[in-house]
Amino acid sequence: MKVAVIGAGIAGRMLAWRLLKLKAKLGLEITIFDKEDRNSQAACSYAAAGILSPLAELEMAEKDIYQLGTRSLELYTDWLQELPQKIYFKQTGSLVAAHGQDKVDLERFYKLVKSKLNDETNLIQKIDLGIKELDLQQLGEGLYLPTEGQIDPIELLTALDKALSSCSWYDNTEVESISARKVKTKDKIYKFDWVFDCRGLGAKKDSGLPLRAVRGELLWLKAPEVNIQHVTRLMHPRYKLYIVPRPDHVYLIGATEIESEDYSAVSVRSSLELLSAAYSLHKGFGEARIIKSVVNCRPALPDNLPLIKTDTGLSQINGLYRHGILLAPAIIEKTISQFKRLICPGSEKNYAVNA
Ligand SMILES: Cc1cc2nc3c(=O)[nH]c(=O)nc-3n(C[C@H](O)[C@H](O)[C@H](O)COP(=O)(O)OP(=O)(O)OC[C@H]3O[C@@H](n4cnc5c(N)ncnc54)[C@H](O)[C@@H]3O)c2cc1C
Repeated sequence: MKVAVIGAGIAGRMLAWRLLKLKAKLGLEITIFDKEDRNSQAACSYAAAGILSPLAELEMAEKDIYQLGTRSLELYTDWLQELPQKIYFKQTGSLVAAHGQDKVDLERFYKLVKSKLNDETNLIQKIDLGIKELDLQQLGEGLYLPTEGQIDPIELLTALDKALSSCSWYDNTEVESISARKVKTKDKIYKFDWVFDCRGLGAKKDSGLPLRAVRGELLWLKAPEVNIQHVTRLMHPRYKLYIVPRPDHVYLIGATEIESEDYSAVSVRSSLELLSAAYSLHKGFGEARIIKSVVNCRPALPDNLPLIKTDTGLSQINGLYRHGILLAPAIIEKTISQFKRLICPGSEKNYAVNA
């Protein structure tokens, strides 16, 4: 059975990798298309900070995101062991902090998340921040979410690329349109038994999905004077901030959310907001060096929820918005289960292009 995966961001790569695991069982031949070079880092997935925080997302998201995210964390624990290289992945919990005048926001966050969790208090705990992070002890009380984690998306995408070495890969190949079993490029129409559309915002033109772009900006800092080990969110009435620690005193500071399909460089205003919030959290960021700035646009649908749409010969995965890295494993698991249901033995023959 010939299948095509269009788009090699986190959704496309993870899907192709999990389909590869079924190659022998289902007799799959997998072809990947992407408009960019295979080594390019232009996809939105490369911009992500890699926070895996289903609980903290409950502040703004539906419970579906929490459930899918929780399932993803379980899958990550298993699946990462099957990749050809070790990935930076930590599940040591995250923190939420606030300055004195903003403690009321912290309390609101605590109550909101707890109520959405039906009062499962062990998943969100009030603590003295100094217990977890000495560098944050001056902030006093904060929140600890013990099940949350983080991953390095660039390492993950690179490892997935290696794992996909046996697939046919058409890079630098822009797909003009997709329909059930058909992929049209500038030069050719390709026929497959099944097509998986994972183009993110690239699907806007022809998919019929009401996609919109949400610009995100992120700064990478090298801050030798800062020693924070947990993903930390700062509650702030104007600029919300998260800090994602990476090895060697590298910290990712993000991220803005601007309703715009604008890929131009990080603005002065966003830099000022992100950096002043980071400096307010830890004075050691004052001497940090900005080593990288990142901009990309998140693919979002009107309800900000992910979409998996499966019809005969075509599956669409989109709308991963601000949770693509978090949700990818659970979304891919669901997509493959829908696909398998439709091609179950007996009906499988009817789906072959050349049958
Ligand atoms: C600053 C920032 C920080 C973020 N932080 C996090 C985070 O901490 N945690 C988290 O879970 N999520 C985070 N996200 C969100 C996450 O990055 C996205 O949800 C995710 O990358 C979407 O993945 P995708 O595979 O759907 O799309 P993409 O990564 O955009 O992949 C789509 C692919 O399709 C290809 N393509 C597009 N059009 C065509 C075409 N016509 N023909 C062929 N190929 C095509 C593209 O080249 C690309 O490779 C962040 C996003 C931003 C911008």
